[in-house]
Amino acid sequence: MFTRVIKYSNKYFDLFNLIENITDARQKPQIATSDIAASILSILFSSLGSLNKFNTSRNFSSVGNLTGRIPSASTIARAADTIDVESLRKILKSIYLKAKRSKMIEPIYGKYIGIIDGHEICSSEIHWCSGCSARNVSGIEGKIKLNYYHRYTAFILAGPRFCFMLDIEPIYPNEGELSSAYRLLERACRDYPKAFEVVVGDGLYLNGTTFNLLASHGKYAAAVLKDETRQLYEEAVSLCGIVNPVIYTDENTLYKVWDHTIDGLWDSYKKPIRVIRSEEIKTVRHHSKDLGKWGYLEEKADWYWVTSLPSVVGLKNVVPVCHSRWQIENGCFNEIVNTWNADHVYRHSGNAIVAFILFLFIVLNIFNIFFARNIKDKRVRSKIFLIDLIRAEFILAKWIYPIPL
Ligand SMILES: [Zn+2]
Repeated sequence: MFTRVIKYSNKYFDLFNLIENITDARQKPQIATSDIAASILSILFSSLGSLNKFNTSRNFSSVGNLTGRIPSASTIARAADTIDVESLRKILKSIYLKAKRSKMIEPIYGKYIGIIDGHEICSSEIHWCSGCSARNVSGIEGKIKLNYYHRYTAFILAGPRFCFMLDIEPIYPNEGELSSAYRLLERACRDYPKAFEVVVGDGLYLNGTTFNLLASHGKYAAAVLKDETRQLYEEAVSLCGIVNPVIYTDENTLYKVWDHTIDGLWDSYKKPIRVIRSEEIKTVRHHSKDLGKWGYLEEKADWYWVTSLPSVVGLKNVVPVCHSRWQIENGCFNEIVNTWNADHVYRHSGNAIVAFILFLFIVLNIFNIFFARNIKDKRVRSKIFLIDLIRAEFILAKWIYPIPL
C-alpha cells in the first residue's frame, strides 16, 4: 500500500517533483533537502510517530544506506529547523489546484466554506524552545511553575467527504489568536482567491476586523454569537420573542430557526448583518433497559450566529454552513491527534513545528482523496487500518533511496 500511495501522489499531484524546490539553511549539507523532504513524507504517510522510529526502520533494512541519500533522524531534525516553509505552502497550493481541476474538491451545501480556528500543541513543563509561549500553572501565589506550549491558527475547506487543509500560521508568544488569524486570512484570500466564498469561525471571530477584512476581499463571514452582554444578542433575543420561527425537520433533528437582519448595532462593522438563531431538538436512539428494545432521548441545543451571508442564501443552507465549523475540530485537529499520532511533535523548534504541520497537511490532503476515491477494497474501512497497511510495507521495504519502493 505504501507503493500505491506514493505512486498516486506522483501521478496525480507530481509530489516528488514539487519537493525538488524545497530549500533549507544548513551550511554545506551532505544530503539534499529534497531527500530530507522525501523521508519526512515517508514518515508521515506511514505515521511512524517519531524520528527515532525512522532510524530503527532505516537500520532494519538489509540493503542499508548504500547511496548515502537516506538522512538520519538528527539530520532530518536539523534541516527541519530551517526548512523554507513558504516552499511547503506552494506545494499545498499546487496540490489544491490539481485537486480542484480534477473535481476532487466538492462544495458542501452548495458553497465552498473556509473554516478558521486556533489550536495548541506540545504543551510541556520540561521541553521548551526559544519560540515557546509560557504560562504559570503553579496555582500557588508567589510560586512560579511554567508550562510551555505552541499555538497556531489553521485554515481549512469544509467538504462533504473530507476537509482540505490549506494553511497554518503560528500564534507567536504574547500575541492573540486574532492577530495570527488576520495574517492567515489575508494570505488565504491572496493565495486562494477562488477557493472559498464564506469563512466560519467561533465566537472569537465575531470581530469587526475579521468581518471587514473578508468583506474587502469579497468574502462573507459567519461567527458564533455567544456573548450575552452584547447589544446584538439582546436584540436577537427580543426579536425572537415577537416573530414566529421557520420550523423544519432534517434527518432526525427538528429545527426552529429565526433569521433577523440587524443594522446599526455593531460599531466595528457598518453593514447590515443577519443574526440567526437555531433551536435544535435531535432524537437519539439508544438501547433500552428492556432487552431488545430501543429507547429515545432528546438532545436540545440553542445556537446563535452572526453572518454577512446575503438573504438569497436561505435558512436551510445558512444553518448547516454555520455548523460546518465543527469540521475543523473533527476532521483536522482531532484527526491529527487520533488518526495520525501527531500530538507528539517530531522536532521541537518554532520552524520545525510549522514545517511538520504543513508536511502533514500535504500528506492528509493526498491521503484523504486517495481514501475517498481509490480504495475500493471493502476490507479497508478505516483510515487507521489503511495507515497500518502503508506502515507495514514501509518498514519491510528495501531502503536504497529516501522513498523506499
Ligand atoms: Zn517551543
